Amino acid sequence: MESTFQKISRKTGKKPSSCKCQLCKSQCRTPCLPTPEDVQWLTDAGYADRLMITDWGAGIMMGVYQKVITMIAPRKEANGYCTFYRDGLCELHDKRLKPTEGKLSHHTTSRTNFDPKRSLAWNVAKEWLQLSEYQVHEMLEFAQSSMVNAITTTHALDFEAAPWEYDPIQFTRFRIGTCEGIWAVTDDSYDIVTVVNNQPGNAHLQDVFEWFEYACRRDGKSLRVLELLNDQFKAHLINKRGFTDIGNNNLEKRMDNGQKEIKEEAPAGSAYGGDGSEV
Ligand code: SF4
Repeated sequence: MESTFQKISRKTGKKPSSCKCQLCKSQCRTPCLPTPEDVQWLTDAGYADRLMITDWGAGIMMGVYQKVITMIAPRKEANGYCTFYRDGLCELHDKRLKPTEGKLSHHTTSRTNFDPKRSLAWNVAKEWLQLSEYQVHEMLEFAQSSMVNAITTTHALDFEAAPWEYDPIQFTRFRIGTCEGIWAVTDDSYDIVTVVNNQPGNAHLQDVFEWFEYACRRDGKSLRVLELLNDQFKAHLINKRGFTDIGNNNLEKRMDNGQKEIKEEAPAGSAYGGDGSEV
């Protein structure tokens, strides 16, 4: 039986390609479109937290569909590229998990993209019409909630994330136990922009650092806490958690020097102790 991938390949006349030219790389500024099947594979492989809901509206411009199509696709990061684009390559390529549009796309593809019959994007987007908008949201919610935690933190707390409503491309909200905050990612670092503990004294901040430090080690990035105006918290991070002052009220901890992790509760009254102020 013909698979969805084979059907799209046949209809568009496109074959898998792995061109590494600059034009092809620049296509990764817009995350490629997966089919629902691709999303299932990405979810099974543990990537649900790097996917997001997106509304595909190019069909309206092309005159092939009158409404936006709600689907799930890789997140776009603050550096302007797809979340799976690393050092000029697709992280998913060798794992054979690249979404269908990415597998079949080539820098010459854009010439045929506005021919509805052969358009790769439209043929992939069409696959999402079998699901209602509600079902697409349910699908992502279920995938993210059933993710097995990659680490078990001190209090066995989950890392919950959602786009920050005021700037969903650049910033993401997180909740870990009773701690909440906003973070961003750059090529070199994970940046904690704000963090507050709503129930001071329960040491959930420890879990926050365990989660972020795990992600930094996994992705070869440093951890930064930005625009830190609370002197007590600043001293704690420098003296107890191995951060260094990099100027302009920003602190950084490099994760490649084998620094010992320190477990120590935050001093009472600090920003993350839950007095309502932000880091
Ligand atoms: S999933 Fe891979 S091929 Fe597709 S846009 Fe992202 S980095 Fe590029």
